[in-house]
Amino acid sequence: MNLEKATTALKKYFGYEQFRPLQADIIQAVYDKRDSLVLMPTGGGKSICYQIPAVTLEGTTVVLSPLIALMKDQVEALSRTGIPAAFLNSSLDSRQAMNVENALMAGHLKVLYVSPEKLVSQSFQPLLRRLNISLFAIDEAHCISAWGHDFRPEYTQLRFLKEQYPHVPILALTATADKLTRKDILEQLHLQDPAQFVASFDRPNIALYVRPGQRRIEQIVEFLRLHPGQSGIIYCLARRTCQDLSDKLNAKGFQTAFYHAEMTSAQRNKVQEDFKFDRTPIICATIAFGMGIDKSNVRFVIHYNLPRNLEGYYQEIGRGGRDGLPADALLFFSYGDVMTYRDMIEQGESSPEQKELKLAKLNRMYQFAEAPICRRKTVLNYFGEPYEQNCGNCDVCKKPPRHFDGTISAQKALSAILRTNQTVGMSLLVDILRGSRRREIVERGFDQIKTFGQGREYTFDNWMFLLSQMLHLGLLEIAYDEHNCLKVTPMGRAVLFEGKAVQLALPELPQEAAPKPEKGKKTRLPAPVAESPLDISQREVLFRRLSAVRRSISQEQGVPPYMVFSDATLQDMADKRPLTKSALRTVSGVGEHKMKLYGEAFLNEVRSFAVEQSGEPLPDPDDEVPASPTPAPKSRASSVASTPKETAPNAADQIRDALQQRLSNLRGQLAQQQGIAPQAVCSDALLESLAVRHPYTLADLLETGDLAKPYHKPFLQTIRTCILEKTAEGIRVLGASPLQTWALFQAGQSVEAIAEIRGYATMTIMGHLASLYERGEDIDVSAWASAEDIDMVLGALPLFEQPYQQKPIYEHFNERYTHDTIRFALAHLKRSSVLV
Ligand code: ADP
Ligand code: ZN
Repeated sequence: MNLEKATTALKKYFGYEQFRPLQADIIQAVYDKRDSLVLMPTGGGKSICYQIPAVTLEGTTVVLSPLIALMKDQVEALSRTGIPAAFLNSSLDSRQAMNVENALMAGHLKVLYVSPEKLVSQSFQPLLRRLNISLFAIDEAHCISAWGHDFRPEYTQLRFLKEQYPHVPILALTATADKLTRKDILEQLHLQDPAQFVASFDRPNIALYVRPGQRRIEQIVEFLRLHPGQSGIIYCLARRTCQDLSDKLNAKGFQTAFYHAEMTSAQRNKVQEDFKFDRTPIICATIAFGMGIDKSNVRFVIHYNLPRNLEGYYQEIGRGGRDGLPADALLFFSYGDVMTYRDMIEQGESSPEQKELKLAKLNRMYQFAEAPICRRKTVLNYFGEPYEQNCGNCDVCKKPPRHFDGTISAQKALSAILRTNQTVGMSLLVDILRGSRRREIVERGFDQIKTFGQGREYTFDNWMFLLSQMLHLGLLEIAYDEHNCLKVTPMGRAVLFEGKAVQLALPELPQEAAPKPEKGKKTRLPAPVAESPLDISQREVLFRRLSAVRRSISQEQGVPPYMVFSDATLQDMADKRPLTKSALRTVSGVGEHKMKLYGEAFLNEVRSFAVEQSGEPLPDPDDEVPASPTPAPKSRASSVASTPKETAPNAADQIRDALQQRLSNLRGQLAQQQGIAPQAVCSDALLESLAVRHPYTLADLLETGDLAKPYHKPFLQTIRTCILEKTAEGIRVLGASPLQTWALFQAGQSVEAIAEIRGYATMTIMGHLASLYERGEDIDVSAWASAEDIDMVLGALPLFEQPYQQKPIYEHFNERYTHDTIRFALAHLKRSSVLV
């Protein structure tokens, strides 16, 4: 079996062009009948690793999964791709189970999902033995380990698979497994010479943010306002909080529901279904929510309360952005939460060692939240994945903290702690520093101490931020056994009494949160692409219309919208605007079966959108001749009247949006290849400028911004391809005419032929080529101007006035050199200044 077949199946069933890193290797191992262990984060694409072997190999792939609630969805999703699948678990009645078994025996099923109970049960064995099994896939393989957090006793009985089916490869897959668990998996399954595949646990599309926990509800409201229409989860610790928060958000006009373990299973089911179907976009839930949900378009995960450990945090935020599109993870941090957990752990029933472990993990969690270090770096290193660069997609990277000499501030706080005999907690201390006369302070006489009111320069939140840093720096500690009073450490004393210097990160002032527009300063570029609700791009308009089509199909057929097509597919569709079936087939995520099921509905929507949008393309002021070289494929365009005013910005939008997407993809690829942050390849601002100005020559590229040399070529290539594709679609791209000439020239057309094809004078075509040459393109000009001729012409230039004109030079040489020679000689001169 070869991979070509796998790639064909990937396109045919799933509509994807390429395997993700490791997928192909894993599938190859299955083809080689080799056992494998796969460690890949949620959303990494584990299912494809056994589904592709399932459809390309003879027989049936048996998938073991403990998530009974998910099986139905997985089978449903597979059947939408045209892969015959079924499941067997305790939720089926005997008649349903019988139907599945019959289908199995008849060899009709390519994929069978089974629960652990079923797989190990004696009654199932005879059936299993009669099957032609292509592969055993053990999903959630960490359940095998008593060390893991989801231990399933049935999983420990799986060694019989290898014993009884020695020739069937086993593929064990999981998203969470430390070394110990991995070892357990290999041993207990008796894997033979297993290949191990460990994918990066980075989920680069999830932006990580941590915010102080004060006024969380206001912050959440603000967040939701900035993310209208998006679906997400807000995790809360307590049932009560879920409910209260949901009520409050509903009162503010958001559509939310709550979910927690005390609800009846019917209630919980309803909430879950409404979420899956995008009927209730936002759920306030305890962490029980999300386990049985594969919804790929979760755009944000908010932690209202601090998670107990980084494992939990990472697993929960991993429910966002499975489709690979940008998603946000926002965590609120408060000391109150840390205290609560501490109490819960200490008063809990665990053994002393377990308590210690839990406390240590809690510590790491809040260090993550507090340290002004790239969040992704912190979390990936915690999971043992070396990650050295700064990610560029977390709050710390986006707004690196500035440090200042905090010695005096620290001394004020330390002094106040000592003068209150180390009997106050953090918030009381801040109130003292800020000169509050609240009852407790006056009664205990703290308004009489020297440092009372000495810290008014900072807000309450600022002080909390500074104190937490002092805590991490080891200047003070919290006596958890003494009502969380603050104590000064020896290092703190060194600061207070010996003037040891302290660097602290500046507290972020609230008004700094959003960059202020600079008044009176003219920017050269049009407004950045960031969309305000009033200024949505055409692509976004189309995306929303396609979403509406998806929603109505979803309602009609009773399948969740993301199962019809993922957000990523609709985005790609909005980008590509396919007008024909074959064009639609190039959209990522449109496989053959879905093409048949939904193709027409979506095609019709894109078509009517195109008709509404199009008009005669505006003559391009940059082009000498208005004629459009290749007739636009929009045959219906002319039937719709529209003023030029409407079409011009539209074309600009289209190219800008398409470029933004592609350049950002390119940047991601380059960053990945080199193991650096995308921002290190090219800043967001430059990316936007490039998308707006679409420079396709080296000179224009250099003028647009400071891009490092190794990236010039790939960036130019991408911009060119994109412009050419867009012009081929009939979209008039400002200034693209020379590029079209160039494309024909490179395809081997003569200047005369190009002039003929494009309907221009040959002189215009020569002008195009010269301008490209001048702006850095490598064109062999020897046919028009030899190196010696160029030298001769350039040597005579001091005789002429700048800017140089062609005609006087031509006349000076008494027609010894052609106009073309002179043109290219002058172009050569300018080019040299570009190429330095
Ligand atoms: P996991 O099981 O690891 O959590 P999934 O198998 O559910 O991840 O895949 C996550 C998402 O990525 C799905 O929407 C899936 O269709 C998509 N996906 C997987 N492989 C590819 C690929 N090669 N190209 C594009 N999308 C893919
Ligand atoms: Zn970062």
